[in-house]
Amino acid sequence: MNSSERESFDAIVIGAGQAGGPLAGTLGKAGWQVALIEREHVGGTCVNEGCTPTKTMVASARVAHLARRAADYGVQLGGVQAGEVAVDLARVRERTQKLVKSFRSGSQRSLEKVENVTLLLGEARFVSPPRGRGDFGWGRQQAHAHGGKDLYQRGRAARVAAN
Ligand SMILES: Cc1cc2nc3c(=O)[nH]c(=O)nc-3n(C[C@H](O)[C@H](O)[C@H](O)COP(=O)(O)OP(=O)(O)OC[C@H]3O[C@@H](n4cnc5c(N)ncnc54)[C@H](O)[C@@H]3O)c2cc1C
Repeated sequence: MNSSERESFDAIVIGAGQAGGPLAGTLGKAGWQVALIEREHVGGTCVNEGCTPTKTMVASARVAHLARRAADYGVQLGGVQAGEVAVDLARVRERTQKLVKSFRSGSQRSLEKVENVTLLLGEARFVSPPRGRGDFGWGRQQAHAHGGKDLYQRGRAARVAAN
């Protein structure tokens, strides 16, 4: 690896999920130069597949449940009977996707605003085994975002190289 092809960071964080995003942000705010590498979506599992979409759909199910029980609470739904309350799954899904996109892009914008944090979209992978104390290699693919350069983590905690 030619050292001129390397780009150095104090820390390289793989994954912009619940763990990686806040970690990169905290290190960046503390003055570390950080590369944060994400292969799919900023926000990780929680925002994109886990907490946010499931709880959004559960919220719709709860509204349907309560609407069916409206009369028990003394609420009239304009003549609609409990058995007539229907769930429009396409609309539920649309609402879910809208929220997910909004949380994802909000997270991405927040990370992009943090000074010292460089968000790179691509697959990270280790490219070499540990070579000694505080010195280990790993990597990625920054094919599009980063022109395939190797990333190199310098001294603060451990050294990392990525390509
Ligand atoms: C269906 C479901 C519902 C859930 N509901 C809840 C809930 O209600 N409340 C709750 O607290 N938790 C919930 N969870 C759990 C929650 O999603 C996880 O605890 C949380 O996402 C873990 O965060 P993380 O940062 O460790 O991993 P992740 O959020 O999975 O983030 C890892 C990130 O790393 C990226 N990545 C991985 N490998 C690479 C690589 N080689 N190069 C580049 N990027 C890479 C991934 O693309 C991903 O974005 C739920 C999970 C699921 C599946």
